[in-house]
Amino acid sequence: MTSTTFDATVHERLGELGNRVIAGGEIDRDEALWLFNLTNSADVFDLLAWANRIREHFKGNKVHLCSIVNAKAGSCSENCKFCAQSSFYQTGSPKYGFVDPEPVAEAAEEAERNSVTAVGLVAAWKGLNEGPLLDEVCDRIREMKEQGKTRPDASLGLIKSQNVANRLKDAGLECYGHNLESSRRFFPEHCSTHSYEERLETIAYLKKAGIKICSGGIIGMGETREDRCDLALELREIGASVVPVNILNPIEGTPFENLDPVPPLEILQTIACFRFILPRREIMVAGGRTVNLRDLQSMIFSAGASALMVGNYLTTLNQPVEKDLQMIRDLGLDPDWSGELEEESTRSCSC
Ligand code: SF4
Repeated sequence: MTSTTFDATVHERLGELGNRVIAGGEIDRDEALWLFNLTNSADVFDLLAWANRIREHFKGNKVHLCSIVNAKAGSCSENCKFCAQSSFYQTGSPKYGFVDPEPVAEAAEEAERNSVTAVGLVAAWKGLNEGPLLDEVCDRIREMKEQGKTRPDASLGLIKSQNVANRLKDAGLECYGHNLESSRRFFPEHCSTHSYEERLETIAYLKKAGIKICSGGIIGMGETREDRCDLALELREIGASVVPVNILNPIEGTPFENLDPVPPLEILQTIACFRFILPRREIMVAGGRTVNLRDLQSMIFSAGASALMVGNYLTTLNQPVEKDLQMIRDLGLDPDWSGELEEESTRSCSC
């Protein structure tokens, strides 16, 4: 990224797009791509300032916090090249079967103590079918719901029938995490054991069941800026309520272990572009935050993020929750989120 002087033409165009989004309009693909392709650091800081205004307009000072429980670890049949839990790679990551009620209840209690709105049950497997395992999953969701400490979320891979989605909804599931991970074009570069279409099909079943969608991706896998742009546009299209932005944390033993990291300012730029494209959604910075952003972590909010994954990730460590809460409060933001997730119908089109 070059550092030159402030460009008045860029400033004017950013203002035009930013004001349009704040007024309820949308940006189109060409405009979004222009934002992703800004490379002058002075322009990028200008972009961040507009993304911050959009966040403030639609999200106020609230920050939505989520955490996850690794509900079934390791030995996954899929070959996602970024993942420590794939059985295709030797990574030394833990392996265990589906989680008992106690660790889930403990995670929910800890979440409540730390103002964390949702706890997601995340399982390393291809997907969820009808059978005894689905019964067990529904039991954990029901127990969390009855415990009443936190919103039970889940991320349980591909779903192949409407009935599975309906059963999850009946158990009390409100939101399901299912990342598209990258653009349709780039997806086969990191996974060949299932397809982008299967992911979209899963999301369609969930939406039909009335479950809200948490879906985002990972940056830093070798994708282009155009791929990031198309991912954000696809997430707008599917109506994701929560959009996690993960940054690759290269895991030793995976095919991506030696990839170069995305520069921190480019990560912030990506978050800002997502805010322009998805102004009302919860844009959540998730895995890879600590290792990739280091001292710039607190800038994610002034780049447009409105949500944060706290606590440890599936196979890697995060900074302590207390430190995150301090960071949020130091910025004058409020981690005590109690709103409703935005639904697809809030999307407007007046560009
Ligand atoms: S990302 Fe999910 S589906 Fe892919 S290998 Fe890891 S656990 Fe399996």
